[in-house]
Amino acid sequence: MTGPAECAVSIRGLSKRFDTAHVLHDIDLDVAAGHVVVLVGPSGSGKTTLLRSINLLERPTTGRLTVGGTTLSFAPAGPAITRTEAAAIREVRLKTAMVFQAFNLFPHMTALANVAEGLISVKQMAKPAAHVQAMSLLQRMSLVDKANAFPATLSGGQKQRVAIARALAMRPQIMLFDEPTSALDPELRSEVLSVLRDIAAGGMTMLVVTHEMAFAREIADQVVFMEAGRIRFAGPPDAFFRSDDPRIVRFLSAIL
Ligand code: ADP
Repeated sequence: MTGPAECAVSIRGLSKRFDTAHVLHDIDLDVAAGHVVVLVGPSGSGKTTLLRSINLLERPTTGRLTVGGTTLSFAPAGPAITRTEAAAIREVRLKTAMVFQAFNLFPHMTALANVAEGLISVKQMAKPAAHVQAMSLLQRMSLVDKANAFPATLSGGQKQRVAIARALAMRPQIMLFDEPTSALDPELRSEVLSVLRDIAAGGMTMLVVTHEMAFAREIADQVVFMEAGRIRFAGPPDAFFRSDDPRIVRFLSAIL
């Protein structure tokens, strides 16, 4: 059994409220280093909020979160963010990289500049060195010929590959993918899924929110099924797809 210490991500008793809406309830989850966790479940079940809580785009209301060895605890009536907490949040953000459904590229920058931006502004790298590194990531994404293209001229699949290159450039320990193929036409999804497969094969710890069940079955070490802000199932894909839980059976029959 892997203890929290060996986990890339360890979550205990995490809850999240937005004003009156209680969106996550008492979430416990461990993600071993190098594992791929696929988060599935009906719309509104809290998958995105959980992902955003892991890199602290959302501040959990209660619970404890350990990401790459940095631990933060949250309490509802807690004080304003302390300097120690702010430093821990910065550490967590440096250890994680998020890829969004809507790509979130800088529209006024070329593909190359998008990938280099974090290297220059966050990692303080000189522009020429950042561009060399960004170019090698674009090469890994088979996008060298698009280095000087602006996002508006790229296909959805190309935009998402630029966004993935930008995330990889930060050398994260953990990558968070929020429905990375949902905005893409079916024929463009496979190019992004094959990039995700590659990254997983390289040993990256990944959490992926997706509705791509075949992909989940193929790539996941652990499938997490969420419903109404709770984890209803967490386990290997075989057990998930063979589950006789009526809620999971209903979900799968609607989506497959
Ligand atoms: P999923 O990713 O499973 O579709 P989300 O995490 O996006 O679910 O949303 C879970 C619930 O939290 C939904 O009911 C949604 O309306 C609510 N929610 C998400 N973000 C906010 C917010 N910023 N303010 C209020 N409610 C929110």
